[in-house]
Amino acid sequence: MKPVRIAVVGAGAVGLSTALCIQDRIRNCDVHIIAEKFSPSTTSDGSAGLWTPFLVPQDQIDIVTRWSMDTYRYLLGLFRSETAYRDGVQLISGFNFCQEVKTDPPWCKDVIGFRRLEEEELQDYPGKEFGIFYTAFTLDVPSLLSSYMRTFRDRGGFVIPKKLKSLQEVKAPWIKHFYIDIDRNNDVTYILPGIETVVLGGTAQDGDWNTEDDQADIDGIMERCLKVMPSLKDSKRQGAWAGLRPYRESVRLEIDRDTDNSKAKIVHNYGHGGAGLTIFWGCANDAAALVVDLVNSRKSKI
Ligand SMILES: Cc1cc2nc3c(=O)[nH]c(=O)nc-3n(C[C@H](O)[C@H](O)[C@H](O)COP(=O)(O)OP(=O)(O)OC[C@H]3O[C@@H](n4cnc5c(N)ncnc54)[C@H](O)[C@@H]3O)c2cc1C
Repeated sequence: MKPVRIAVVGAGAVGLSTALCIQDRIRNCDVHIIAEKFSPSTTSDGSAGLWTPFLVPQDQIDIVTRWSMDTYRYLLGLFRSETAYRDGVQLISGFNFCQEVKTDPPWCKDVIGFRRLEEEELQDYPGKEFGIFYTAFTLDVPSLLSSYMRTFRDRGGFVIPKKLKSLQEVKAPWIKHFYIDIDRNNDVTYILPGIETVVLGGTAQDGDWNTEDDQADIDGIMERCLKVMPSLKDSKRQGAWAGLRPYRESVRLEIDRDTDNSKAKIVHNYGHGGAGLTIFWGCANDAAALVVDLVNSRKSKI
C-alpha cells in the first residue's frame, strides 16, 4: 500500500514534535516538514525554554493543565534517559512570584517539590506578596530541536524550506498540515539560572510586533531583576533577544471541518502563547491522534 503523505507546517517545537508523534503513530507514512525558518532561527529557539504554564487561556485551563503535565512527564523521562544532555533537558528548582493570581495553580500537586513561599521568604523580596517554589525543566531548545530533526530525518522524514502564502499551497492528496499562526503578546520577571549563564526576562506586550531589541525593555527587565538579585549588577551581558509569542484566545487544536473535501485535510495545532515549550508534547500527541483519525476515516471510504 502507498504510504500516506502528510505535511507539517512549521519547524519550531510544536511542528517538530508533532511530526515525530505522527511518525510514531503511523508506520506507513511520508511526513514532510514545510517551514520558512528552522532551528536556531525559530521563536522556540529564542524562548527561555522554561516549563511553566504562562499566558495560557483561562477558559481552557483543564486541557492546558493536561497538556502541561503530559509534557512534564515526557520531559522527566527524557531527563532520566541517557540522551538528556544531547537533548538539552535540565531540571531546575526556583521561586515563581505571582502578582495577580494568588492561589495554587491546578498543576501544583503533580510537579516535584511544589510549595507556597512562606511569609519570611517573601520578606526577602520587597513588593512580592505571593510566590511558589517548584522543580521543573529548562530546555536548551536548539539542542532539543536539533535532536528532533535528526530523529525525524533518520526515520525517513523530508524537509522542505518554503514560506507558504496560504495553506492551499499544500494541495490534495496531502492529508494534513499544521498552520502555526504568529500572533502576538506580553509582563513577567524571570531569572533562569542556567549552568553558566542566566536568562533575564521578559516582557509580554499585547499587540507589539517589534522583533528588534528594545533598549527601554532591556533596561526595565534589568531594573526588575536587580531588585530580586542585586548581584547581577556586575554581570556581563552576552546578548538580547526579542520574539513573538503566538498567542490567541485559545489554543487551536482540532480538525478543520470546513475544509473542502477535495483538498488536503487540515489539523490545526497553533496559538500556544507563552507556554509552547510547556505544552508542546501534550499537544503534539493529541494532534497526531487526530491525524490518525483522518487517515483511518479515509481508509474506511476506500
Ligand atoms: C521572549 C519569549 C520567551 C518565551 N519563553 C517561554 C518559556 O520560557 N516557556 C514556554 O513554554 N514558552 C515560552 N515562550 C513561548 C514559546 O516560545 C512559544 O509558545 C513556542 O515557541 C511556539 O512554538 P511554535 O513551534 O508554535 O512556533 P515557532 O517556534 O515560532 O515556529 C513556527 C514555525 O512555523 C513556521 N512558519 C510560520 N509561518 C509560516 C509560513 N507562512 N510558511 C512556512 N512556515 C511558516 C516558522 O518558519 C517556524 O518554523 C516564549 C516566547 C517568547 C517570545
